[in-house]
Amino acid sequence: MKASDARSLRDSSSLDARLEHCYRQLPIALAVTLVNGAILVAALWGAVDPATMLGWIVLLLAVSSVRYVNLKAFRRRTATGTISLARWRRSFAIGVLAGGVVWGLSGALLFHPDSFPHQVFLAFVLGGMMAGAIPVLSALERVYPLFAIPAIVPITVQMLLVGDRIHLVMALLLAIFGVGMLASSAQVQRVFRESELLRRELSSSREISHELERLVRLDTLTGIANRRLFEEELWKEWRRAERDRGVLAVISADIDHFKEYNDRYGHPAGDRCLIKVAQAMEQALFRPGDVVARIGGEEFAFVLPGTGADGARAVAEQVRERVAALKLPHEASNVGPMVTVSFGVAATDRGRVTTPTDLVRASDAALYEAKRLGRNRVEVARG
Ligand code: GH3
Ligand code: MG
Ligand code: MG
Repeated sequence: MKASDARSLRDSSSLDARLEHCYRQLPIALAVTLVNGAILVAALWGAVDPATMLGWIVLLLAVSSVRYVNLKAFRRRTATGTISLARWRRSFAIGVLAGGVVWGLSGALLFHPDSFPHQVFLAFVLGGMMAGAIPVLSALERVYPLFAIPAIVPITVQMLLVGDRIHLVMALLLAIFGVGMLASSAQVQRVFRESELLRRELSSSREISHELERLVRLDTLTGIANRRLFEEELWKEWRRAERDRGVLAVISADIDHFKEYNDRYGHPAGDRCLIKVAQAMEQALFRPGDVVARIGGEEFAFVLPGTGADGARAVAEQVRERVAALKLPHEASNVGPMVTVSFGVAATDRGRVTTPTDLVRASDAALYEAKRLGRNRVEVARG
């Protein structure tokens, strides 16, 4: 994947979350818009031409309804699958612009020609709308100005047109307020971007730590479980067997005359042999919960939950046969011409074991016995 592709993927997934945020805020924004519109009309009733006022409130209602329908469509689309982000961003922005224009129109149409208190009230409502829109509209780039600029410009121009000192001061204040709101919206937008970035970094570092957790339990040479995983499984299955009054078996396995194998074929060939033997051992296990681990150089250990001594002996025998079936030449072995493995089996249903360590000690002793009795064989601990 090219760097630019990665960037656009990242940007689009972040746009996804921010667009979602904007649409999620829309119902409240529309409700506030309608309430403020109603308050404005009620406050100016009798002071401004009723027909103009009625026309304006109908326009506000119409634009809000269309934006609500657009919101519903967005929700339907996101519920059924992927959406064209650019298209929905555009339709959201158009809705915002329409809202800004309608509020801006109030600054021109509902501007009382003579009553300064009415003018100040109108400016106050418009200022409130602009401030309130910041958390809703700042998640997306270049959207807030679409509302703020058309909303504030007409009333500022009206103030300028009156032209006396107090109105010029008011116009100046409105302009400063507008610029301030644009600046704080840009600030809020940066915060949105950064928090989105942090959220994604957090989730990717969580994935990395999961992967590390997994890797730390695997043997680097053979890819099967390592001693750490073996011990974790052993203790876990021991506790489970205790709770369920079940049985548990451990098999210790060790390649025969492996020192001679290395001496004869070299260390890299020894490594390749270890990999093949490990894979064959793993392929011999079928039950969920069975685990084989490489716990040392050419030593392996199995945890077999729910398995007694007889079952474990059968498993060990199958593993022995599988390794023999690999037919890996071992001319330096006095056991036979191929690589062979010896096994020691111990299980909780045979002898007296009171801890997992006892179990492993017993399987090691059985393995020692298998070596003593000529190797390439399975011995079961008697306890
Ligand atoms: P036994 O039949 O009694 O088990 O004899 P053995 O030679 O297999 O046993 P010993 O413990 O004397 O030797 C184990 C040898 O395994 C020593 C070392 O050369 C080899 N070995 C241990 N780890 C590795 C490894 O990671 N790679 C390779 N290639 N060889 C290893
Ligand atoms: Mg050994
Ligand atoms: Mg050995």
